[in-house]
Amino acid sequence: MRAAVALACLLFVALDTCASASAPLPPPKRPPTPSPAGLVPLPCDGSEPLRPAHGTYCLTDRHYVTPQTRDAIVRAARAVHKAYPDTVVTFMDASWPSGKKPFPPHLSHGDGRQIDLALFYESKDGRRLPKPPGSINGYEDFEPRPAGEPDPCPGRWKHRRPDPPTTRTWRLDEARSELLTRTLIKEKAVRRVLIEPHLEKRFGLWGNAKARFQGCYAARHDDHLHVDFN
Ligand SMILES: [Zn+2]
Repeated sequence: MRAAVALACLLFVALDTCASASAPLPPPKRPPTPSPAGLVPLPCDGSEPLRPAHGTYCLTDRHYVTPQTRDAIVRAARAVHKAYPDTVVTFMDASWPSGKKPFPPHLSHGDGRQIDLALFYESKDGRRLPKPPGSINGYEDFEPRPAGEPDPCPGRWKHRRPDPPTTRTWRLDEARSELLTRTLIKEKAVRRVLIEPHLEKRFGLWGNAKARFQGCYAARHDDHLHVDFN
């Protein structure tokens, strides 16, 4: 039931009862759901510089990972927080405690070795923003390809979504987003980071063996990083 309410909040976030989408979450009032796959939940209580983009991820148990993956994510979040003490890393989908695949709507999540992390944003006058600025669930605050940058999937992108309006008041925070990406890539436990080619170039990571394009049959990755762990 609680999951149903949370899902309704995600879909109808304009309701007053759901207005706390971006507020810090209170400590969980229930023990972690047992995981037959040995997965553990990411912290939802603010005890680490990590937070869900929306409380629904924790309420519906979509935040389970392997212990090794959790340790690596926490280490990366702490490193970014050390460089930018006002910064908390925002996470979205990981896996369910069951460890089962498929994990809709994702092609690859489910066994606790994947996480989606939001990129960072700033206002157009350069103020760091604490979370994805236009999104309810952490996804789809896309950073458009710069003029002249070729379309990696011309006419054949299955899940293409439009760029945000040019009138938006925010843009990518390049420094923090690059630091998060580089920190993850340096982690031994990280197998690869899926990212759009134009950001891979912008972050100086073009050709890096762990920075990979997701291909033309997956969602855009210039709003979030998909991280695969060993
Ligand atoms: Zn993903």
